Amino acid sequence: MLTRSSVLTSCLTSDPRAFVALAHVSRQDVGSREVSRTVTTDRTVDVHGPRTPHSRGGSWPVRVDQHLDDGLTADDVDRWVPSACVLCSNGCGCDIAVKDGRMVGIRGRADDRVNRGRLGPKGLYGSTPWSTAGDRLTRPLVREDGRLVETDWDTAMGRIVEHSKALLEDKGPLSHGFYTSGQLFLEEYYTLAVIGKAGLGTPHMDGNTRLCTATAAASLKESFGADGQPGSYADIEHCDTVLLVGHNMPETQTVLWARLLDRIAGPDPPRLVCIDPRRTQVAEQAEQTGGVHLAPTVGTNLALLNGLAHELFEHGWTDEAWVERHTLGVDDLRGTVAAYPPEEVARICGVAADDVRRAARILGESEALLSTVLQGVYQSHQATAAAVAVNNLHLLRGMIGRPGCGVLQMNGQPTAQNNRECGADGDLPGFRNWDNPSHVRELAELWNVDEMTIPHWAPPTHAMQIFSYAETGSIGLLWISATNPAVSMPESARIRRILGGDQCFVVVQDLFLTETAELADVVLPAAGWGEKTGCFTNADRTVHLSEQAVDPPGQARSDLDIFLAYADAMGLTDQDGGPLIGWRTPEEAFAAWQAASRGRPCDYSGLSYARLRETNGLQWPVTEEHPDGTERLYTDGVFSTHSDYCENYGHDLLTGGTVTAQEHRAMAPAGRALLKGTAHTPPHEAPSEDYPLLFTTGRTVHHFHTRTKTGRSRQLDGAAPDAWVQLSTTDAHALGVREGDWVRVESPRGAIEVRARVGAVMPGAVFAPFHYGRWDPTGAAEDADSRQANELTMTIWDPVSKQPYFKTAACRVTRLRAGDQTAGRP
Ligand code: SF4
Repeated sequence: MLTRSSVLTSCLTSDPRAFVALAHVSRQDVGSREVSRTVTTDRTVDVHGPRTPHSRGGSWPVRVDQHLDDGLTADDVDRWVPSACVLCSNGCGCDIAVKDGRMVGIRGRADDRVNRGRLGPKGLYGSTPWSTAGDRLTRPLVREDGRLVETDWDTAMGRIVEHSKALLEDKGPLSHGFYTSGQLFLEEYYTLAVIGKAGLGTPHMDGNTRLCTATAAASLKESFGADGQPGSYADIEHCDTVLLVGHNMPETQTVLWARLLDRIAGPDPPRLVCIDPRRTQVAEQAEQTGGVHLAPTVGTNLALLNGLAHELFEHGWTDEAWVERHTLGVDDLRGTVAAYPPEEVARICGVAADDVRRAARILGESEALLSTVLQGVYQSHQATAAAVAVNNLHLLRGMIGRPGCGVLQMNGQPTAQNNRECGADGDLPGFRNWDNPSHVRELAELWNVDEMTIPHWAPPTHAMQIFSYAETGSIGLLWISATNPAVSMPESARIRRILGGDQCFVVVQDLFLTETAELADVVLPAAGWGEKTGCFTNADRTVHLSEQAVDPPGQARSDLDIFLAYADAMGLTDQDGGPLIGWRTPEEAFAAWQAASRGRPCDYSGLSYARLRETNGLQWPVTEEHPDGTERLYTDGVFSTHSDYCENYGHDLLTGGTVTAQEHRAMAPAGRALLKGTAHTPPHEAPSEDYPLLFTTGRTVHHFHTRTKTGRSRQLDGAAPDAWVQLSTTDAHALGVREGDWVRVESPRGAIEVRARVGAVMPGAVFAPFHYGRWDPTGAAEDADSRQANELTMTIWDPVSKQPYFKTAACRVTRLRAGDQTAGRP
């Protein structure tokens, strides 16, 4: 069968790595044969690249994408070093191009299961330019007389250790807090977790994963007993229906979207159901595939999802026998969703009742349903309850653990999964249950420390609480690694006050002097991706080894080396007086983690650096019995819910109240999944006369996080140099705002002044990208001091996952003046 695509004739080969960057030509393709190509279009515009259509059940063809610095060809490259991209949670396999000791480009790995050679604009243009940026941190800094000044490592670390020891003596371990990232490597998270939990004994550890993926983890624990993605990206090849809930995949995981577009472009395409208040590309594809776009009022996801479950029950679209055998709670769920017939959903959510019926019918009549969920759920009202409601749909239909029937509770950041596995986010390593004494005992034996050293008297402290403790000085030392809370956390003015105050000693380790580092007492220069070795795991449990390609600049050190230096300087020991941390290298740290993970859902015991070097990504668990990894979890319908095994005992999803061990044992799920229904409640901050619109934040395709890397890419910064807000045509007309005009957007907490884009968002909603802080490399921003979306957001979080809400703040918009240009490319 012939399909049309864009390809180089000479690229039809089984060895795509032989190719160099070439011109972009067209020819007829060859059906299911694997095709490789290297395109030279501007991928900030042609974001997803040319299509490689494939049919249901077929394999995704190869398409190798490559980018090298200006003027270079593949012949100029000294070596290609294997890695995977760390600019979103997709984890695309890649090789780093090295020339004269510098990272000069990147290409996708044709044989990688995640991307089959493809890379998106962030991976292509944002992976390497930051590494040689002139403003890299190359020496430690300490604050003297109010200013940060360069110093040496001994002085910087000495200052940290002096504060640390004094605080431990005066106030004990609760005086210490650690706030880390979704971008370190597994070995670094595990080392940090052991230092915090077994060395110091503090429960105050979390990562910026709290802002992006905490709800994914929470929903998986609530429904299935433990964190861990049930499905696989390969489910795209097998599904006939895709439900995307609050997931703007075309902008957040561009290569995964290319995979789905390729299914849509092939024979027998899947139908899409999109739930999103904006008219995204997902919404357009939903309509084009005969599916539905539902645009609920911001803050009403749960009511809509309850309505879909209502229709499954109403029309007999549930798999009763499977539900009976493999789940608990169906009667309670049926009772809860009975209150959400389509007309009631239409009233609450502002969608058409018939669209709810149509969407439910598509889901109910599907043979293989794949669902994906992201920040439109996780950062919005009733986050965990809504994410669990998506899991409920799969459980009701018995569609889990088989090809095409995946639930992808996506991650935002590239290594968020490892933070959750290793316990640097406060959970116990290996998805162990802090409330289960035998789990704590296992770790105490592994680490050779007293059980009572390991904090387990209460749930771990979440990030929002850590910052509250730092605000009062109860936490007197806050150590922030590889993240930029001064831009990314809600209610920015408050975060700046906390970081800049005298009540808490702040340590920051990062690549650059970020908005957060500027406020620190000590700044440590860190090595980045490609400058160190380590493993990380993407959103579908695929583990990659990222090898060191070049040396870090100046005195910068890997995060692992920094943590080890602190442990050494503090003299952290086990209960026999031996060193607490018995490893020095990334590979030794990996071996230590393997021992910690053995027997748990995220079992890495069958993996090794050698094994990772000979494969291109393996999905955990990888064990002696499953040496090639595990594509899907729960294929036998047995879940991780046994009381002795589960990661936690669950919560009341409305209030966040915990289920006790006794209650869980009495319920005896014993391997059955849990169906949990929750009633909709109105969002906390409803529009009012003063603030009549709803402010919602999100991402744009050209940037990652707070632009620490992507803002230093000429192509990506050029494509989206400044912040904007997006208004509906109706609201813009009422306010007299035209495309490109400058507007002021205010909430009760702060204001921004940015250009407006008009259209593609539902009336009543105002969308802003969260990436932009005060740092402005090119001076493109007219007023970089007032463009940070989190000036407007509020300090409030989900009762279960503790993830802050970034999607539901009331706001008002005022036109300031005409703009001299459009607000830029979307
Ligand atoms: S999809 Fe994500 S992991 Fe893949 S190249 Fe793009 S940013 Fe990197």
